[in-house]
Amino acid sequence: MAVMTFAGAALKNFFSKPVTTKYPAEPAEYKERTRGHIEISIDDCIGCGMCTRCCPCGTLSIDKIKGTWTINRFDCIACGFCVEKCPKKCLTMVAGYQTPDGEKETVTYTKSPEVLEAEAKQREEMAKKAAEAKKAAEAKKAAEAAKAAEEKKD
Ligand code: SF4
Ligand code: SF4
Repeated sequence: MAVMTFAGAALKNFFSKPVTTKYPAEPAEYKERTRGHIEISIDDCIGCGMCTRCCPCGTLSIDKIKGTWTINRFDCIACGFCVEKCPKKCLTMVAGYQTPDGEKETVTYTKSPEVLEAEAKQREEMAKKAAEAKKAAEAKKAAEAAKAAEEKKD
């Protein structure tokens, strides 16, 4: 019986196409759900830091002011947590593995100048509003203190 099974498998394999490919002579074929490497749409990132906090390998870092997102691909285990947790959905798991290298170098993505400029302007406006609100609160407090002092005098 085992001989028949073996003969059947041998015959089937003899007439079917090889399961291997001619990579790297031919491009590699990746399955739809392959965990290859992480890519980012950097202009959509809000610098919340969720990805850096959830990464079990500590391989990600961000600089909100400079608008950068950095990854050491050689430390990444392609678990996909960062993709799952990103509130802006700007991270994606892409087919294709990290190219081998002699050095464990990091890769840094930087936002476009237009987005950086818009964000800087937004921060400036927010700081201005906060300063105005603080000033108004202080003025109100001073007026209340003056009124209380006046009432005390009477
Ligand atoms: S896929 Fe996993 S290991 Fe890689 S950067 Fe994201 S959270 Fe970190
Ligand atoms: S979780 Fe997404 S939006 Fe937040 S810092 Fe990471 S990439 Fe940017």
